[in-house]
Amino acid sequence: MESAAWPAEFVARMTGWLGEASDAFLTALARRDVGVRLNPLRGELELLRARLPWNVAPVPWCPEGLWLQEEEAPVGAHPYHTAGVYYIQDPTAMAAGVLLDPQPGEWVLDLAAAPGGKATHLAARMENQGVLIANEVNRRRTSVLAMNLERLGVTHAMIFNETPERLAARWGGLFDAVLVDAPCSGEGTFCRDSAAVRDWSLATVQGNAHRQRGIMEQAALLVRPGGRLLYGTCTFAPEEDEGVIAAFLDAHADFELAPLPALPGLQGGHPEWIGAPETVRGVGRFWPHTGPGHGHFYALLRRRGEPADDLPERWRGTAIPGRLVQLYRRVLRETLTFDPPEAGLYLDENDDIYVTPLDPKLWAGLHVLRPGWWVASQRHGKVTPNHALAMALHPEDAQAVCDLAAADPLVEQFLRGSFWEDDGPAGFVLVTVDGFPLGWAKRGEGRLRSRYPLHLRR
Ligand code: SAM
Repeated sequence: MESAAWPAEFVARMTGWLGEASDAFLTALARRDVGVRLNPLRGELELLRARLPWNVAPVPWCPEGLWLQEEEAPVGAHPYHTAGVYYIQDPTAMAAGVLLDPQPGEWVLDLAAAPGGKATHLAARMENQGVLIANEVNRRRTSVLAMNLERLGVTHAMIFNETPERLAARWGGLFDAVLVDAPCSGEGTFCRDSAAVRDWSLATVQGNAHRQRGIMEQAALLVRPGGRLLYGTCTFAPEEDEGVIAAFLDAHADFELAPLPALPGLQGGHPEWIGAPETVRGVGRFWPHTGPGHGHFYALLRRRGEPADDLPERWRGTAIPGRLVQLYRRVLRETLTFDPPEAGLYLDENDDIYVTPLDPKLWAGLHVLRPGWWVASQRHGKVTPNHALAMALHPEDAQAVCDLAAADPLVEQFLRGSFWEDDGPAGFVLVTVDGFPLGWAKRGEGRLRSRYPLHLRR
């Protein structure tokens, strides 16, 4: 949407605050930069980048980030997208993973996670180690979150559909790092989100600020002493940015604003726009007129104190009948080249088998969409490997592989759920595109039949 259609009051506010820079800001805000964030779970960044068939430039603040230098590049339709080689994401949104900087082995919570742009980034930076809780309060948005985490090969995440209140009441200060990528007025998305333009008003901005303060109250409870809390929005409205952080710091003497690293393009806050205390100048803003992307606000908060010595470990128990473990072990050993994971096995009420990172006692009664890495299912006394298992594999992990070139028409056939002639040995075959996983096929009776999930088929 062009800037002429933007709310006059928004334009007037920004012009008043930005002065000479406002023309550049409004022009840049109408630009639609396309970013792709490479997935290091798929391989070395340099090797992945070399495989992309488009002209790209690095995102200065994110080593995994690239942005397209050509218009109309079909990044969403390419099989590498399906294979989780990258995630399409605004360049300024990529800074969340860099600023929160989650480490392998940490316990991390993304409180507002759908569709999963930032959660998949956190997961990759954690190298699939530790615990990642991806929560989304809106039920309808949880399935796309699950698809994206699966597509990118994430294995240490659980997906919840809960309110921040219920998670905080249940878990208290369990997490090393919490991300609140808050629902906001979305001024940064005006060029591509007509609903954000239509819904914008000063009252909406105030209403969002109120809601954001409420979410941050709950988020604070979930951070362990010594832990970090990253707050982000894709809006420029200071009431939803500096205002929320000023109110938070006022109410939480146990938190302090942590200094942000000097990332290229990251500028300080503007407390003077709303009469907020000078301390909140230490927040960070990315602007559309000073770099790629539509702009973002971030504040990193640290809870004072030291972590307790007795932090819980990742769960290594099992909640699955022993005879089913034996069947699972046998089928997966025929399919994989490594011993299938057994620590953390959990059988849900649908007879689906997961590797869960959290003791089920910790989440009994909460709404969970994916209690972990969905590795297999039991149907009619048989165990079959799940799509999410395939998506976390490299070719050397599977006993049988069918590798296709990106331009091979069989890729389309596979993604449509079709079959082709193949008289190799019977069993599950990992189908890959240039070595990146697409899913399972089943070979037998002279054919290789796609087992690509129905809901993902083209
Ligand atoms: N982090 C996501 C990503 O990177 O793909 C984007 C999150 S989006 C900016 C904000 C999310 O907050 C939406 O999915 C929305 O459903 C959710 N949300 C709305 N109201 C909420 C509330 N009261 N508490 C928690 N989350 C809420």
